[in-house]
Amino acid sequence: MTALVIDEVSHRFGATVALNAVSLAVAKGEILCLVGPSGCGKSTLLRVAAGLEPLQVGRIALEGRVVAEAGKAELPPEARNVGFLFQDFALFPHLSVLENAAFGLHRLAPAERLPRARAALSRVGMEEMAQAYPHTLSGGQQQRVALARAMAPGPGLFFLDEPFSGIDARLRRRLLEDTWRLLKDSGSASVVVTHDPEEAMLLGDRVAVMRAGRVLQIGTPDAVYRRPESPFVAEFLGEVNKFRGTVGADGTVETALGAVPAPGFAAGTPAAVIIRQHGVTVSMAETAPGSSVPVVVSWVRPMGAASLILLRRRDAGAGDPPIYARVPGRLRLAEGALAYAGIDRDEVFVFPAETPKSA
Ligand code: ATP
Repeated sequence: MTALVIDEVSHRFGATVALNAVSLAVAKGEILCLVGPSGCGKSTLLRVAAGLEPLQVGRIALEGRVVAEAGKAELPPEARNVGFLFQDFALFPHLSVLENAAFGLHRLAPAERLPRARAALSRVGMEEMAQAYPHTLSGGQQQRVALARAMAPGPGLFFLDEPFSGIDARLRRRLLEDTWRLLKDSGSASVVVTHDPEEAMLLGDRVAVMRAGRVLQIGTPDAVYRRPESPFVAEFLGEVNKFRGTVGADGTVETALGAVPAPGFAAGTPAAVIIRQHGVTVSMAETAPGSSVPVVVSWVRPMGAASLILLRRRDAGAGDPPIYARVPGRLRLAEGALAYAGIDRDEVFVFPAETPKSA
């Protein structure tokens, strides 16, 4: 069953268009991640769907029931059976962990409330801290309690807005994994807002990439990453090199890394070629397959598992674009070394050149 349907929703704040005809659906049990740069409308979409922001244009349905439609009275947020976890997941400082977890259960009989809150705490591994107060907990523990509070009423839908943003990288990875498991075990649908593409791909069954109030592409993490439909999506989901050129009579575009096939493009079409940085291969021998462009290694930054490398063609002119490569860290390259660069075709995307208005 479809848990959430957002149908042609648009939203303005004065002259600012925050959402522009957004439509999407989330199935029961599915995790959908909304990802995009700051200000693209992710939080607004969640807030409108939750009823925290009045709907202006379009329609919202939850579990088959229309809860908001332009020009009609809306179902208030507390009647929508939605669990929230927002960036500032502020626990109530004067309430214990257990009381915080029980907060959304006021409709239950008192005898049911605490056992239900305890069960929610146990699911997030916080039952032993039931009597503690929020200020004595670490950020990660507080986040778990906030998750328990959102889960305790057993909502049909979870809305999470940047739930891990204040948490350090290592703990964040663990929380992400735990949260994924908890959301999946709940059987409910979830919409998670993040600006971090890796987080979105790790957590989401599907990912919706947003820009300037629109959903540009929605699909499985693999589909949006492997088959981006616009330069913006390709660039947003990974570090890239971007070259401009014109499709030649032979159906290829010449780039600093050699000719790239542009199937389906007519000769003379201006094109943008995007090559992911880890799709640039670097080798010391010209004979290595696919490594044929003579380059100089001009800068090396070892980052552990990978190294970021700046290359220049040996015949480069002053205005030629830089070439960045991310190569395995074990590949020891010295600055100034002469090498050969090539490309992994799976990491190359060709689009019509962007006009100022296109995505
Ligand atoms: P971030 O990742 O920075 O939270 P976001 O993608 O969630 O960004 P929104 O918070 O939805 O983006 O904002 C979308 C646009 O609407 C932005 O231009 C923002 O400045 C504007 N906006 C959001 N809330 C309000 C408000 N209450 N009043 C006026 N403008 C707002």
